Amino acid sequence: MEEAWKRTIDYELDMFFKDKKSRGDISKRLMVYSLEWLSVGYFSALYMAGKKFSKNSLSVKCSSDEVEAANRFLEDFFRDSGIGRLKLIGESGTRYVYRLEGCSTCSNMLPLDRQICYFEAGIIAGFLESKLKRRVVVRETLCGGLGDDYCEFVARVR
Ligand SMILES: [Zn+2]
Repeated sequence: MEEAWKRTIDYELDMFFKDKKSRGDISKRLMVYSLEWLSVGYFSALYMAGKKFSKNSLSVKCSSDEVEAANRFLEDFFRDSGIGRLKLIGESGTRYVYRLEGCSTCSNMLPLDRQICYFEAGIIAGFLESKLKRRVVVRETLCGGLGDDYCEFVARVR
């Protein structure tokens, strides 16, 4: 795995120096990738960090507790903050499915057989927990890290 991260980081830098404007948020990507290169097990920390931030700070900025309005707020936040284009694509009351296109963490990265957008997953989890007042677990099922064209997140309400 360590070799895979080095390859990924070198690829990222090659792309950056080839065309400095072609990539998303290079500083964020290098931070996330380097963290994983440095150590194991930080992914759950990134998930918990995204969740804490979202549950305690971001969700407070959204005045509505109504699920549809809250999801629109979340989609707007992802877009306006430069994370990517988030869209709720499926919903069953206990399950929410989101697609994230142009993800600033993983789009067009060198795939390395794992999903990596744990911070983003945590943001969705914390936001839904705050608005639904239920426990929510989010798993990323599609990701640039797995070679997919976009990310997909499945949120399950417990
Ligand atoms: Zn991803």
